[in-house]
Amino acid sequence: MTVAAHTACPPGPGAYVVAIAVAAPLAVRLGGGVSARLRPGRYLYSGSAYGPGGLPARLGRHFRKDKSIRWHVDQLTTAGEVRGAWAIPGGDECEMVARLGFLPLPIEGFGASDCAHCRSHLLRWPSRVSASAIRAALAADGEPPVWLRGSATRRSPA
Ligand SMILES: [Zn+2]
Repeated sequence: MTVAAHTACPPGPGAYVVAIAVAAPLAVRLGGGVSARLRPGRYLYSGSAYGPGGLPARLGRHFRKDKSIRWHVDQLTTAGEVRGAWAIPGGDECEMVARLGFLPLPIEGFGASDCAHCRSHLLRWPSRVSASAIRAALAADGEPPVWLRGSATRRSPA
């Protein structure tokens, strides 16, 4: 596994927000024969890593292209370009969605199939919204999130 770019990744469990750039219109499957279309642009996906390996293992997976499609977001991280991720040690993924509630929601139900209170865990990140605004929103009154660049690992070796 390529972990060189994640040496700054907090080692424990927590929430994260992955930034993904989509260059061309993308049809995503949501299960049950339902699909939706994403227009080109930047997207943010909020998730959490409370399993083995914590944040480094999960973000390492999101940053890799070579993987089987297991979650909705895998369709974006394989077709799009993962720019990086904010890691929020000990954080809650739904709380992060709430903090980013000022962003547009492109697809109802995306990544939130088993979530009772979120309409989606995928948000659109318009170009008028700066990275520092996202960072500030994620920090709320607590610790600022840790930004991890995805560019070093965005392409898997052939
Ligand atoms: Zn949620």
